[in-house]
Amino acid sequence: MVTPTDTRPPAALVTGGGRGIGRAIALALAADGHAVALSARSQAEIDAVAAEVAAAGGRALAVAADVTDAADVGRLVARVTADLGAPLVLVNNAGAAASHKLDGHPDDLWHRMLAVNLTGTYLVTKACAPAMLAAGWGRVVNVGSVASLTGARYIAAYTAAKHGVLGLTRALAAEWARAGITVNLVAPGYVDTPMTDASVANIVSRTGRDAEAARAAITAMSPQRRLVRPDEVAVVVRMLVRDDAGSITGAAIPVDAGATALAGTG
Ligand code: NDP
Repeated sequence: MVTPTDTRPPAALVTGGGRGIGRAIALALAADGHAVALSARSQAEIDAVAAEVAAAGGRALAVAADVTDAADVGRLVARVTADLGAPLVLVNNAGAAASHKLDGHPDDLWHRMLAVNLTGTYLVTKACAPAMLAAGWGRVVNVGSVASLTGARYIAAYTAAKHGVLGLTRALAAEWARAGITVNLVAPGYVDTPMTDASVANIVSRTGRDAEAARAAITAMSPQRRLVRPDEVAVVVRMLVRDDAGSITGAAIPVDAGATALAGTG
């Protein structure tokens, strides 16, 4: 049985670690002493974050992989295990968002949203699970969304995928409840990242509004009237992966400036 409090914290794997929320999570976990493996498809982006971790005195490894490709995921986890040790901390953050009304919904958009957000989470978790089960210790944090908890217009595929991630989270939390492995979900609202920049651009092109008005429409959804910062998501992740957070499992924690809990309060 691994006792991470006695030794160095175990290696952590952060998918989608090249920018946005994943970058913030990687920097936070490295600051807490984890050797951090970063993965995404763009090698240049994960290399840049690995350099930031190293500049701050941490240890990082950047391995390009597509989470929708089982063979790629297998190679990723083998490489991380060889170089840093088994990733007993896994943050499934890689994801993508796209919107379309259901009438005329492109099937490839549906499959793409399910593949990256849901199947990717399943594949990487499955690849990391044997080492966690053997160690009798593991931490899995899935980056869901408020779309894991509520429905919204024009994002059927993304919402179905992120609800699926919540279902996977709860099923595995139950399966591993006595195996020393916790599985939790963080549910961010709109976060100030390139993904939200793309949502703003989408509103601009669909409605003809200017970018400032489009951004204001997004921040108006939050009672705090602001976007969440990536480091505000990271702080919850760093708490969930601690050894003494072992009683928190199967949870879905909104990090959304009040958007879900205070819905309807204006
Ligand atoms: P970004 O678009 O800024 O970053 C997404 C990351 O995922 C990138 O590193 C990207 O790298 C990687 N990625 C995308 N597709 C794949 C793939 N097939 N294989 C491996 N990596 C992939 O997004 P955010 O930082 O904003 O989002 C991170 C997570 O947070 C996502 O799961 C998202 O759904 C969720 N989220 C975001 C919110 C927001 O408002 N921004 C709100 C709620 C949830 P690359 O393209 O190089 O592969």
